[in-house]
Parts: sequence; structure tokens; C-alpha cells
Amino acid sequence: MFAVKENTPDMTRAMESGAARDLKVYSDNYDIKFFGKLSAARPKELLGSKPQTCRFCDKSEPIVTFKEKAHTIPRFLGNKRLLSLYECDSCNERFSAFDADLAKMVMGELSVGLVKGYNGVRTLTSKGQNSRIESIGGQQTIKYFVGEPFMSQDAENRSATIRYQTEPYRLLGAYKCLAKIAFSLLPDDQLINFSELKQWLLEKDVDKNKVYQDGYHSCFHSSVPGFRPYQQPGVILLTRKTDIPMPYCVLVIAFGNISLQIFPPCPKKDHGFVGKSMAITKFPLTYDLQPWLINGTIETTVIDLSAADSVRQERQIFIEYGEAEKHPSQPNKEAAA
Ligand SMILES: [Zn+2]
Repeated sequence: MFAVKENTPDMTRAMESGAARDLKVYSDNYDIKFFGKLSAARPKELLGSKPQTCRFCDKSEPIVTFKEKAHTIPRFLGNKRLLSLYECDSCNERFSAFDADLAKMVMGELSVGLVKGYNGVRTLTSKGQNSRIESIGGQQTIKYFVGEPFMSQDAENRSATIRYQTEPYRLLGAYKCLAKIAFSLLPDDQLINFSELKQWLLEKDVDKNKVYQDGYHSCFHSSVPGFRPYQQPGVILLTRKTDIPMPYCVLVIAFGNISLQIFPPCPKKDHGFVGKSMAITKFPLTYDLQPWLINGTIETTVIDLSAADSVRQERQIFIEYGEAEKHPSQPNKEAAA
């Protein structure tokens, strides 16, 4: 069914009416092309076949090599099991720069959501400060040094707002990483519809040969409160099957506390909508459909990932924690979430 959480929603129970309507829009007008959960507990899945040909550059051995493990979804998002045979080492190397952009964009969410990447859970710090969120022995620990702007605490409600600055990254690079994930997951018979995206993915640069102009790289960023609501990272890819005026392709990826949704560029199928306004609907996930499963409200924003220049961003994340300890000898406070 249409959910990305480990426990899929119980469709025999009530659903929030607005989200249920959105779900119907998708189930009436879209086909699921890929649906997967990515935790290590599940058996590895290898997409593609031998002899290997790269689906991005169309090259085979010995012109290119296939020595590296090609993660269809970057490892830092918690993907330990979904790999492909159709990504050569040189394309893999080129994509690593876009992976780095997305990793920087979601560094706070990866840390707070305890998403395990190559080297375990990321530590979140902010430039020039000692305060941090880190995972120690599987437990999330916030070290807060009084006076630093990293955190403002609401002790009574055991909650805090974490403020940090990202490392410099390219928003369009993060978008390109997501678009590459979508291209990787498409069934073979769909690739012909995405030749413009393929051309863009062959470029090392983010701006050169991009498919759509600035302003057309929207991303739904949805944040669910609570402790790791998306325990297993999950992904879903859909394509439109009717002529409803909505984008042809939809990619949703969920991990930790957030989901991201983009509409990968597909001018072959979406050219009829160019210059026209189009209603875009967020694909509803478990907690949109059954918000009573969580405490608090889901925050959804649409962000534009068109900027090609590298920027640092000021970000903030709201968290709730369990116990707090003070260490007056060193003027800091610690809170274990
Ligand atoms: Zn290649």
C-alpha cells in the first residue's frame, strides 16, 4: 500500500479526510513503480543484471569499471540494502558530489533522527561552538554549553530548539541527488521518457544542461514530531497513468523524522503543462493519514532547490528529550533525548 513506515496504516481504521482525499488522487492517477524499505534487517536487493551496462553513460566494461558498490539511495540516508549493477564507477564518483550536497542539507535531520550512515549516526555541531548532538552507545545525547546559541531549552516541557548552521552546499546539488535516486529506481521501460534528466545527470556541474529553469525544483519537506517516526528509511516512486494535470513522476523518501518529495523532471510527459499553473499535492504518508499516531503536528513546507551556488544556511530543529543533567564544574548542561 501507499505507506513508507514500518507499520503501514491500518486501512480499516479512520483516515484524516484531507489526506485520504490526497491518497485517492494518487491511487486514481498514478502507478507505483518502486516501493522499498531500506534497513539492514531486510535481505540485500540488487537491481539490474549482468553483463553490466551503466544506465547513465551507457558504457560497459572494459571502457568503464563496476568495482564500487553502487547504492541506489545514498548510504548516509540509512540505505544498507538497495544496490544496483547499472552504475559505473565514474558515474558513481560524479554523483558523490550531489550526495554530499543532500547530506549537508539534511545533516540536522540525520542526527536528530538517529539515521545510521557509513560511520554511524552523525554528530550535529554548529561552527565555532562546543555544543552538540551525538549518539553515544546508541543513546542520543545533547551536550549544551550555556551561553552558546546552539540550543534554547524549555525545561518545563522537556523540549528544545536546536539552531545550527549547515556546511556550505548547493541546493540544486541536493535536488540532483534526489533526481538521480529517481532515475536509478525507474523500470527499464520508463528510461526513454527521461532522456533530458539523463543528460543532466551526465554533467558534473549542477547548472549545465539542467532540464528546467530556476523555480521548477520544488521539494516538499515534511517533518513529523516524535522519536524516529520513520525507523526504517523508505522510498516510493510513482508515475502518472492518466492525463490529470500533475507532474508525471513523483519520488518520496522518508527517514528519521522527515520525508522529502520531488517531481523529477520529465519534459516528454509534462511539456503540456509548461507555463501553466499546476496544483501539486503532497503524497500522504502514514502520519498524514493517521495523525493521531503522533503527538504534535506535521510541519510541511515547499522549498525551492533551484539555487546552484554553494551557501551556508541557518537552520533550526525542534526536539523533545527525556532526562537532563547539569554539570556545574564545567559550565554546561547535558540532556539525553
Ligand atoms: Zn556510467
